[in-house]
Amino acid sequence: MELKLYDTLTKEKRAFAPLDPANVRMYVCGPTVYDFAHIGNARPVIVFDVLFRLLRHLYGEAHVTYVRNITDVDDKINDRAARDYPGLPLNEAIRKVTEQTGNQFHADVAALGCLPPTIEPRATEHIAEMRAIIERLIANGNAYVEQDHVLFSVATDPRYGNLARRSLDEMLAGARVDVAPYKRAPMDFVLWKPSKPGEPSWASPGGIKAEGRPGWHIECSAMSWKHLGERFDIHGGGIDLVFPHHENELAQSCCAFHTDRMANVWMHNGFLQVEGEKMSKSLGNFVTIHELLADWPGEVLRLNMLRTHYRSPIDWTLKGLEESAKTLDDWYAVARDLPGERVAGSVIEALTDDLNTPQMIAALHGLRNLAGDGDELLRDEFAASLRMLGFLADTAAGWTARKQQASGIDAGQVEALVADRSAARARKDFAESDRIRDQLAAMGIAIKDGKGADGKPVTTWEVAR
Ligand code: AMP
Ligand code: ZN
Repeated sequence: MELKLYDTLTKEKRAFAPLDPANVRMYVCGPTVYDFAHIGNARPVIVFDVLFRLLRHLYGEAHVTYVRNITDVDDKINDRAARDYPGLPLNEAIRKVTEQTGNQFHADVAALGCLPPTIEPRATEHIAEMRAIIERLIANGNAYVEQDHVLFSVATDPRYGNLARRSLDEMLAGARVDVAPYKRAPMDFVLWKPSKPGEPSWASPGGIKAEGRPGWHIECSAMSWKHLGERFDIHGGGIDLVFPHHENELAQSCCAFHTDRMANVWMHNGFLQVEGEKMSKSLGNFVTIHELLADWPGEVLRLNMLRTHYRSPIDWTLKGLEESAKTLDDWYAVARDLPGERVAGSVIEALTDDLNTPQMIAALHGLRNLAGDGDELLRDEFAASLRMLGFLADTAAGWTARKQQASGIDAGQVEALVADRSAARARKDFAESDRIRDQLAAMGIAIKDGKGADGKPVTTWEVAR
């Protein structure tokens, strides 16, 4: 089946032809690790995880390299570190913030059913590559040194603006451009800058004596070069990254390596809003992945994300989550505990059409209906497809357990209350046993009194849904 992908640069859906089918290479801009990731941040992670899985299916697991970076040098990280650990030296505080946030991110996206990328480079471990690219850009006449800064001169790259499809004049009108004394032209952007005292700093390129630190955009040019080469197949991220981040990455890499392209296909997911509104802290509708995982199993969030095509905006709603949970309950009942060997053609067909996940879900519903009639082969295809897509990661028992956990129920506490109630009943204190039953009901727990195999009374409980 031919894979077709939409390319932001050329604005067309094209047949995908890897530079090297034995090593298909994809780079996706990862998180800046200073706070919990929000559900909008989960969108590119899930979307490109599905693409990673599809590429592995089409080209073989050993023939796909997926790089997703971690940005661990940034003003927001420095601010957070100074605020949270005022007693610590800044560099130590920064390490704590990036480590904790990075670990939280890994836990969050693993719960969403996302595979780890093949390589997860950190910006601070690629300073040498950043310096090397900057030296090349200076040598090629694309960058200049001014007041201990190195700037990229956009006028030297006639292609600048092609990705965002804007002329320099339009960009100037639309962007909040810092006017700075070290810039020759307002759109020129920073490749390297001085560090403030106490901030992380490294030896500078361009003959600058003072130590400094990289600008944001150069990180991704350096990390993709190191791990994927001067040119690679797919570059992804959220739509907000097209300008200036990806436009600048593209200019840096193409000018440094004298190539006409950085990635063959540029892919961008649309934005996520919550209950019809832009997500923002001030509106109080800002939701982290971590918070959502307290209420929903990760695969509910995953399915809910995939119900909308990745290029469209998505409206994240409670109603959508409830529907997604219901769908999975039904699907898991049919597919549970099956190994699943052959992925359904209809699912792959949908995905190869520019990751058409709504069509993929329709295909899964179709399979489910046929498989529900008891056809073993189809049940197997259904289970295989769900697994390939990052669902059904464990057994049906696991799903039930996670649903209970996500509903906020502490099984130990429930057991203790049930035991207290049994004791009250045994001593005929019915007022107390009724009180405990009401307490459990208020927690969403239904209890059932019966008899065990030995004829003695036993009480079982379940989460009332
Ligand atoms: P950031 O940490 O803000 O650089 O974002 C990390 C990734 O999440 C980038 O690929 C962003 O484009 C993406 N992203 C951030 N906010 C949203 C949103 N509301 N909807 C979809 N993607 C987003
Ligand atoms: Zn990037």
